[in-house]
Amino acid sequence: MEYLKQRIRDVYDFPKKGIVFKDLTTLFKDPRGLHIIGWDLSQLYRDKGVTKVVGIESRGFIGGSILAFELGAGFVPVRKPGKLPADTIQASYDKEYGKDVIEIHRDAITPDDIVVLHDDVLATGGTMAAAYELVKSMNPKKIYINFIIELSALNGRAVLPADAEVTSLITY
Ligand code: 5GP
Repeated sequence: MEYLKQRIRDVYDFPKKGIVFKDLTTLFKDPRGLHIIGWDLSQLYRDKGVTKVVGIESRGFIGGSILAFELGAGFVPVRKPGKLPADTIQASYDKEYGKDVIEIHRDAITPDDIVVLHDDVLATGGTMAAAYELVKSMNPKKIYINFIIELSALNGRAVLPADAEVTSLITY
């Protein structure tokens, strides 16, 4: 885990003053770092029968794709409005200023699926809670939630469903 931590860059005052942004691009560009992420994430779900990994736009597409590949599962994107071409369902959630909306294809998940929902970072938890509601509405057998990084000071787990099994590789 030290190897991964050493390759995550703190960017001060991004996207606005006072925020310390965890930049994973410095980890993703490192071949060994990328390999370790794929391996470590997949070890968490090896024996769970996962059929779909759902990644959240846009940084969740990177780890989510690697995880899906490692598990032999499919990959499903959750995107910002207007990006997905076919019929979608939407969820909205509160951000610091105003609301945000995310979408998923209506036929992306079936009741036979065992799903891992993946994003790069858990901050306040609003994004993942909304993505969980979208996936839940399609009634899969099981939904796991996974992050590369969890920012524990923001207590995002508190807004995630109590029955969801949440894992993260690195906690700050
Ligand atoms: P939340 O809804 O949990 O407050 O925010 C999570 C979303 O914001 C994720 O999609 C994540 O990509 C992004 N995010 C929030 N803080 C950070 C950060 O420090 N670094 C990165 N890479 N993403 C962040």
